[in-house]
Amino acid sequence: MSRNGGAERPLASVVVAEPKFRAPKGTRDILAPESARRRALVDVFADAASRAGFGEVVSPMFEDMGVFRRIGESTDLVTKEMFDFYDKGQPARHLALRPELTAGICRAFVEHRPVPPWKVWYEGPQFRYEQPQAGRYRQFVQVGVEVLGTDDPQADIDVIALGAGFLASVGLSRVRLLVNSLGDPMCRPVYMEALTSYLQSRRDDLSAQSRVTLERNPLRVLDSKRRDDRSVIDSAPLMVDYLSDESAEHFDAVRSGLESLGIAFEISPRLVRGLDYYTRTTFEFAAEALDASQNAVGGGGRYDGLVEDLGGPVTPGIGFALGIDRILLACDVEGAFPPPRSALDVFVVDVTGGSQALALCDVLRGAGLGADRAYGGRSMKAQMKLADRSGAPFAVIIGEEEVASGELTLRDLRGDSGQRRIPRRALAGEVRHLLETHGV
Ligand code: AMP
Repeated sequence: MSRNGGAERPLASVVVAEPKFRAPKGTRDILAPESARRRALVDVFADAASRAGFGEVVSPMFEDMGVFRRIGESTDLVTKEMFDFYDKGQPARHLALRPELTAGICRAFVEHRPVPPWKVWYEGPQFRYEQPQAGRYRQFVQVGVEVLGTDDPQADIDVIALGAGFLASVGLSRVRLLVNSLGDPMCRPVYMEALTSYLQSRRDDLSAQSRVTLERNPLRVLDSKRRDDRSVIDSAPLMVDYLSDESAEHFDAVRSGLESLGIAFEISPRLVRGLDYYTRTTFEFAAEALDASQNAVGGGGRYDGLVEDLGGPVTPGIGFALGIDRILLACDVEGAFPPPRSALDVFVVDVTGGSQALALCDVLRGAGLGADRAYGGRSMKAQMKLADRSGAPFAVIIGEEEVASGELTLRDLRGDSGQRRIPRRALAGEVRHLLETHGV
């Protein structure tokens, strides 16, 4: 029995049942207002890319598995992290959800043969079967650009400047730009030989995982963040010391171009990045606000052989991909890029039952304003609470009295101008005027 003598409410009725289904491991539902913040972030990128002459490409979320094999048979991305499957075709096709977009864009280039240089930007979800942790998901969103059909180092500079400018424009101030050159098919084999024989000679000092990586792709050993590997990696030969004259010249041009634009960068001679297709310029944006193991907010580089690998003509290319999820995490830490203000301008509070709200919302929305209302004939107090929570700067209140007089009560929910009566037909004009004068 409870204190007032009534029967105790059965506990079960207040316990929220565990949901039967949850979002799959490594995926998340992104709800408002965070979803609005993401969309705004992508819009800023779209605007910057469009103003730099890039056109959007919308391509499939899945491709023939063969397209992604070109990323590198020895990369984790291809061997372990692919969401691949067979479709219902006869014979069945081997397909995979895209883990990144560069390979798909090159496939599209070969298929459509656009006039080079082809400058494209994209956005969308990518899928990797990784071990989820903060900033690492199985479905995540990237935005990126690619320029296909030129090996001019000015394109490298333009692309890097676009990425750096975008990150700065969203308010991130603690982002380091790391730059390296991975050489070309002329000088890379010589370097690979030197690196492999060095790593073989220090094999016993490497971690067990890096010994396995060494067999598959010695370059990737340099990517290891394991402490045991540090001393071996620190003394490894560096690609920059083996560059051919052409690659060295290209790298010099990129560096001096970045300097001329006042873009701060560090040469990072051990930056190899995860994918096999990179040649010459490679770069990464590292956010200091994030944990060191997960601090890459984006990266990219040149891939002068990828289009050819996919059956196309010799076509150099350069691009980058930025991780929207991680950029937002870095923004959280830096207090940057807050959610945009609510798209609602007015919340209509109707105490006559609801049909007045229906008509008024219709008028306001028809006039291009944001308007919402409550459902279910709720009390004035409950509706005002919803109005406050909606983020709208104004409430419009309509009761029997207003209906009879052809007026409305307009209330300022943010400022201190209180409320006043306005003629019903003046509503949209009045709200627009207030929005302009209040600068909401
Ligand atoms: P990558 O395509 O591997 O060069 O990655 C480019 C950027 O995408 C990274 O710098 C991250 O910001 C982001 N990214 C890559 N993998 C993930 C993931 N599993 N979860 C979240 N973001 C990711």
